[in-house]
Amino acid sequence: MSKKLLLKDAHIEGIRYLETYRKQGGYTAAEKALKMTPDEILEEVKTSGLRGRGGAGFPTGMKWSFLAKPEGVPRHLVVNADESEPGTFKDRYLMEFLPHLLIEGMLISSYCLGSNVSYIYIRGEYSWIPDILEEAIDEAKAAGFLGKNILGTGFDCEIYVQRGGGAYICGEETALLESLEGKRGNPRLKPPFPAVKGLWERPTVVNNVESIAAIVPIIDITGAEYAKIGIGRSTGTKLISACGNINKPGVYEIDMTITVEEFIYSEEYCGGIPNGKKLKACIPGGSSVPIVPANLLLKTVNGEPRYMNYESLADGGFATGTMMGSGGFIVLDEDQCVVEHTMTLARFYHHESCGQCTPCREGTGWMHKILKKIEKGEGKMEDIDLLWDIQRKIEGNTICPLGDAAAWPVAAAIRHFRDEFEWHVKNPELCLTQNYGLANY
Ligand code: NAD
Repeated sequence: MSKKLLLKDAHIEGIRYLETYRKQGGYTAAEKALKMTPDEILEEVKTSGLRGRGGAGFPTGMKWSFLAKPEGVPRHLVVNADESEPGTFKDRYLMEFLPHLLIEGMLISSYCLGSNVSYIYIRGEYSWIPDILEEAIDEAKAAGFLGKNILGTGFDCEIYVQRGGGAYICGEETALLESLEGKRGNPRLKPPFPAVKGLWERPTVVNNVESIAAIVPIIDITGAEYAKIGIGRSTGTKLISACGNINKPGVYEIDMTITVEEFIYSEEYCGGIPNGKKLKACIPGGSSVPIVPANLLLKTVNGEPRYMNYESLADGGFATGTMMGSGGFIVLDEDQCVVEHTMTLARFYHHESCGQCTPCREGTGWMHKILKKIEKGEGKMEDIDLLWDIQRKIEGNTICPLGDAAAWPVAAAIRHFRDEFEWHVKNPELCLTQNYGLANY
């Protein structure tokens, strides 16, 4: 059984409220941290090996150490709660059931970074969660954990919740900052990174909800103890939101030493595939990461078991491996049609492209159009090569990673399931009545 650090108290009734959270030891990590110096906290975070839980896996301690500290310029912590990656809903769970864990993590992080005004930017569709967060903020403030002179330390901190308008692009950190400033959420060129020039051109750390929540156990048990959990550079625990063709969809906390096979089939996690169906493929890190067929999902290219961690999932590079990403684990059984699935994702990226970069604005729509044609049985063999060509011309040619995120699923689908695309071209009449999965798997 995986060790639980974040969700250990999630089942306790009333844990959303300060009184119950305190009874479970809540805010003791903050009390401990506020007696440490910011540099000591930073060292703990670096030692923990925590990697950003939003998807990129960038080391959190390193990001914090990049924060510029020009004299007299305010600095900010911004929590990215714009969780919009299809298949990803772990931050929603954290905020809904454990809002004080996030607030406590923000207090410790704000103190370490020297942020007196910190923000939570939350996706518009999570319409009921800002009230939960604001209630927790009010409770924390009334108890002296936020506001002026927190616990007599002289440190002041306010936290504000900002609702997004429901655009996927606003989860990209620079688009998020633009939106927080009241502008249209168009991504900025990086560098400069937000750590140097972020919110209102001030040094800003943008971190995912889960990354900030993880600061609490890191301070609680120490960075060294946190680093002992997991394996290699995949330290600590990770939240996975599991969905698709599985018996037990939900949010699971894993310690990154379990295999993909165990995660899918064991009763503790996904509980296997409904109706005894075969596993066809999986997208383990949210819709942006490459789809992997079952044979490569359960074993690496070297024939080793594939583990649920950053290194093992990426084994083989983009040609065969995939990514841990945001931990949005989507399972496809033998009846699913990869072409239809890829077309659905292409429609999403086309709709969500901000339109700033030509390859993304034009390419996502073009890919969607071709995929729709192939899926309906109206495609030609050349369309498959054209699709390949378009995705290659998007990847790496846009300001933000939305272009890559739109290109990779198409590339991986053609690379691993070309026969399925060809079947659609060769069997136009069957496309209308059944899908490749039902006909061929
Ligand atoms: P990135 O690799 O560009 O950056 C990761 C983080 O490290 C950023 O905060 C960046 O500012 C920081 N960073 C990197 N180099 C730095 C440097 N030299 N100095 C200072 N800071 C530096 O990736 P990204 O664009 O932030 O994220 C991409 C990932 O987001 C994708 O892999 C995808 O999995 C994920 N994603 C998640 C969601 C979600 O809902 N959780 C949605 C879409 C995409």
